[in-house]
Amino acid sequence: MSYYPLTSIPDYFGIDALLTEEHKLIRQSIRDWVESFVMPQIDQAAQNHTDIPNLMRELGKVGALGPYIPVEYGGSGLDQISYGLIMQELERGDSAVRSAASVQSSLVMFPINEFGSEEQKKKYLPQLASGEMIGSFGLTEPNHGSDPGSMETYFKDMGDHYLLNGAKMWITNSPLCDIAVVWAKNEDGKVQGLIVERGMEGFTTPETHNKWSLRASKTGELVFNDVKVPKENLLPGVTGLKGPLSCLNSARYGISWGVIGAAIDCYCTAVQYSKERKQFGKPIGSYQLQQKKLAEFLTEITKAQLLCLQLGTLKNDHKATPAQISMAKRNNVKMAIDIARESRQILGGMGIMGEFPMMRHAANLESVITYEGTHDVHLLITGLDITGINAF
Ligand SMILES: Cc1cc2nc3c(=O)[nH]c(=O)nc-3n(C[C@H](O)[C@H](O)[C@H](O)COP(=O)(O)OP(=O)(O)OC[C@H]3O[C@@H](n4cnc5c(N)ncnc54)[C@H](O)[C@@H]3O)c2cc1C
Repeated sequence: MSYYPLTSIPDYFGIDALLTEEHKLIRQSIRDWVESFVMPQIDQAAQNHTDIPNLMRELGKVGALGPYIPVEYGGSGLDQISYGLIMQELERGDSAVRSAASVQSSLVMFPINEFGSEEQKKKYLPQLASGEMIGSFGLTEPNHGSDPGSMETYFKDMGDHYLLNGAKMWITNSPLCDIAVVWAKNEDGKVQGLIVERGMEGFTTPETHNKWSLRASKTGELVFNDVKVPKENLLPGVTGLKGPLSCLNSARYGISWGVIGAAIDCYCTAVQYSKERKQFGKPIGSYQLQQKKLAEFLTEITKAQLLCLQLGTLKNDHKATPAQISMAKRNNVKMAIDIARESRQILGGMGIMGEFPMMRHAANLESVITYEGTHDVHLLITGLDITGINAF
């Protein structure tokens, strides 16, 4: 259970009036689920560096996996604002929970839905939507993070199958995944997507241990040693980096919304604490220094909410550009990590404890500010959009 009343979750500019009844219902149902399922166990999972048991199936049950995927393939056929609101509610619980839903929805289901064959959609999407199957997304490599175009993982056409070799690193859910959407170069050096299934000979998924961030999420490698991939597992609908980049656009959009949830959790906790905690005979919330912090948090959260709602409207109309999404991801993650760090101070010593969420969110957001394009890289994308000059 959250430490603050849920009625204190801010809507300072009356943005709710711009949402549909369906949006609000979806948000409420995910909020309730986060309260009952995530909040009671998230601190222990993060402290113990273990994933939340059964998380993906539970996310499937509440409709948080592939919400915008068509109903015929197991999704809910919802709009992009619904997807954003779901991400926001999940990340109020923890970035690891939102990451699980983001990867499954935007990085695994999205490419199969956009670029997959009819057979691939029927085979994988319903099981991914229900959470019976866990997917991962392999783009980053040990030597190529911000520059995925230089990737070394490759596959060769062997006539009746492809032979895949290489390695991916920093892969969310790799130790748990049943399938991986893997981006690799063909013999012409062009990037294509392959669906690799657990159990294929030569495919291993070693776990990455000792993270100080996203501790309730499993991270690992995807290693391919002469893996024979059936030809029907190639995603037929895309060639080139635009394949993985379009997935990242969808995921970055979800992150822009998600991190507002983490910021809200920190803000609401800080407001509540500042009213209860007394020093020098008065609540600390009565002092101007603390009020300044709270006022700035609310201002930044409100700006981020407005940015996301307009971005969602553009996305619904298929008009959101990758550069707009980069700007939103960059701005909102920085907003959230700043609020997590500053709000922790409002709690003094208590702010470092697991009973309160600030340290966990702040540590998680160190990953979120790096993955799906670093803070620097998104700035360069905006710079390129302004000047037309590539500064990478
Ligand atoms: C917890 C976690 C989960 C992840 N999950 C996934 C996943 O599921 N799938 C996946 O494929 N990847 C995943 N990633 C990888 C993530 O996307 C990369 O870490 C990220 O893209 C950055 O790559 P890198 O770590 O190699 O850093 P690098 O690219 O080596 O960057 C290091 C620093 O150099 C800066 N830099 C790089 N290029 C430039 C430039 N041209 N100009 C100025 N500065 C530059 C960067 O901004 C950064 O500060 C995950 C990462 C983490 C931490």
